[in-house]
Amino acid sequence: MAILEKVLIANRGEIALRVLRACKELGIRTVAVHSKADSELMHVRLADESVCIGPAPSIESYLNVPAIISAAEITNASAIHPGYGFLAENADFADQVEKSGFAFIGPRADTIRLMGDKVSAIDAMKKAGVPTVPGSDGPLTDDQERTLDIARGIGFPVIVKAAAGGGGRGMRVVHNEAALLNSVQVTQSEAAAAFGSDVVYLEKFLQKPRHVEVQVIADGQGNAIHLGDRDCSLQRRHQKVLEEAPAPNIPEDLRQQVAEACVNACIEIGYRGAGTFEFLYEDGGFYFIEMNTRVQVEHPVTEMITGIDIVKEQLRIAAGMPLSFRQEDIELHGHAFECRINAEDPHTFLPSPGKVTTFHAPGGLGVRVDSHLYDGYTVPPFYDSLIAKIITFGESREVALARMRGALDELVVEGIRTNTALHRDLVLDRSFQAGGVSIHYLESKLED
Ligand code: ADP
Repeated sequence: MAILEKVLIANRGEIALRVLRACKELGIRTVAVHSKADSELMHVRLADESVCIGPAPSIESYLNVPAIISAAEITNASAIHPGYGFLAENADFADQVEKSGFAFIGPRADTIRLMGDKVSAIDAMKKAGVPTVPGSDGPLTDDQERTLDIARGIGFPVIVKAAAGGGGRGMRVVHNEAALLNSVQVTQSEAAAAFGSDVVYLEKFLQKPRHVEVQVIADGQGNAIHLGDRDCSLQRRHQKVLEEAPAPNIPEDLRQQVAEACVNACIEIGYRGAGTFEFLYEDGGFYFIEMNTRVQVEHPVTEMITGIDIVKEQLRIAAGMPLSFRQEDIELHGHAFECRINAEDPHTFLPSPGKVTTFHAPGGLGVRVDSHLYDGYTVPPFYDSLIAKIITFGESREVALARMRGALDELVVEGIRTNTALHRDLVLDRSFQAGGVSIHYLESKLED
């Protein structure tokens, strides 16, 4: 089967450039779509064609489905890559893309729908043998006695979560029985307002977990493999800040077991494309929390230790090709880190858009920079503040970390404020250096 002829990239910033690079390598032509505020983006200049799809606000451009489909029609594209964020996990969009005759570079719409509802996702994972957090096994009902019984059975603290929740919203921790019913009610009405569904469920609240995730790729033709795991525990307000692969200090047999369970689940649900199973990891146990049915920001750390180009695989799979390798072909080698450089105030964390007067990217052996920045580029105020990902590889964790220290010293971004100083601090942090800090570590360090 021939590879795709022309791909429309329905995204912006570093990920649009990342997709464009993979397309170029495969000889696929590219269409960049952009908002009025984004005509100066690096990938817009590099794409074979570009189409302005609307004004600056995302809702009128990068989330504007009719405009994106029209752009694909006008340019005669064969497929659409959604990147991450925006429409990447919107099942209706995937549906419309395919109904309009284009390949959606991602899973089938029904898979996105299944995984987008946390209750149905957890249910599917349990059936496939993936370990989940002890919980209510389905939505809570109006039966208050039942809700109390379930919570007592799980043991406090528990967390009330909206089935349709996302982005760290729609969750509430409950420490005792007295607070339970009220918390359930508040979460229900918040969820109804924010996500259009008041379905909530209960889970055991894990106190000091790590965030460990497993990268998978499946071709939708019965073949699925995993590419090992990543640790993304360094987070602020549920936003990942610094990631690494593999996750440090995890017993090999456990690591193997959970990865195999994810592969089985992919086969079971007929998964197609790249995906990530996210887990909380505590006291030697893995607990599934959700699946991301798209490429993730942190995918490069996995590429560095496997040598597999995840975006190229996405493109091949969307063209109907079977996976180009088997599990036994995948060899994990070395260690990788990724620092997310954001255009933000280092103290208040508020976005710091504006003109980048100087950008100097680090380099050298084992250093990779995924960034759309260049001297004179203006970071617009309308979108995510991620401006660069600094990725380092080394044959050991120590070497990769030493390279990151050097790379961060070399990085120069002038004209706007960035969180580079935070990363310089983090790579010197003793607990982080030891490996395996919990998801609360960064916030408690920032409070000190
Ligand atoms: P979202 O889709 O909003 O990202 P997740 O289910 O992935 O929601 O949860 C987001 C974050 O909330 C997790 O990374 C973790 O920090 C916290 N969290 C979720 N469930 C639990 C739990 N059962 N115990 C402890 N923390 C949790």
